Amino acid sequence: MPELPEVETVRKGLADRLAFFEINNLEVCRERTIASPGGSQEFISMLKGAHVGHWQRRGKYLLASLHRKELKDTNNNHKPKLIDWGLWGVHLRMTGHFQWYEKKSSTCAHTRVRFWNKRGEELRFVDVRSFGQMWWVPPDVAPENIITGLKKLGPEPFSESFNAIYLQERLKGKKRPIKSALLDQSLVAGTGNIYADESLFEAKILPNKPSGELSYSELENLCSSLTKILQISIGKGGTTFSDFRDIEGINGNYGGQAFVYRRGGKPCRSCGTTIKRESLSGRSTHWCPNCQH
Ligand SMILES: [Zn+2]
Repeated sequence: MPELPEVETVRKGLADRLAFFEINNLEVCRERTIASPGGSQEFISMLKGAHVGHWQRRGKYLLASLHRKELKDTNNNHKPKLIDWGLWGVHLRMTGHFQWYEKKSSTCAHTRVRFWNKRGEELRFVDVRSFGQMWWVPPDVAPENIITGLKKLGPEPFSESFNAIYLQERLKGKKRPIKSALLDQSLVAGTGNIYADESLFEAKILPNKPSGELSYSELENLCSSLTKILQISIGKGGTTFSDFRDIEGINGNYGGQAFVYRRGGKPCRSCGTTIKRESLSGRSTHWCPNCQH
């Protein structure tokens, strides 16, 4: 599943490719991809003719601002003004990804939504597992009223509000393993399995340690380890794992350099001890029993 660094990489790709993109036409190939209340009918009629503006990321959600020409040109002497036309929200979930085509090109069976500009260039959303979602948020409506998952998101790892004091308050008395806590999007937004395992290794903390038992200095370490690992991976354009490709079809390379993730049975890169792999709260978890305490 794409995590914060991959989603951030997709955001940058979309921002580059779709600067000045005007949606001339679009096609929804699978109804369930459109999650906003009006379904595909409203999504198509509202996005058609819209200009795509700035892209932002919140957790694993992508949000583009939309604009469109004023429908009634009240003053013929002026060019039509661009007005706020709400937001286009996207969540990639397990396998959703975007592809860019400069020319007409055949589609695969997993094509879910297609967008064209006047030049016939196409942005295509492809999703094998089909859990990916898109929304249209009308102007003047709070995004979390339509994209309800935004309501429960915790702070961004790079924000000032994500720090050891915050974690200490939230985890006080909690018995659930710190690994599971890190995957909880309401504690911190955007972290998934890879970066939870890698940041716990970097912070030298055992993944199954009850989260309420972490000391203040361990929590400080964890905050800085998580942001460090995420920052490195963003710099490398996301990680390497089966489904992630950026919008140009290029795969990142963090997977080749992971310390523990998907390295069960291999020697620890730091001490040589065999890396362990076990399921923890249903997610495969990797750690070094010597380096992590
Ligand atoms: Zn080790």
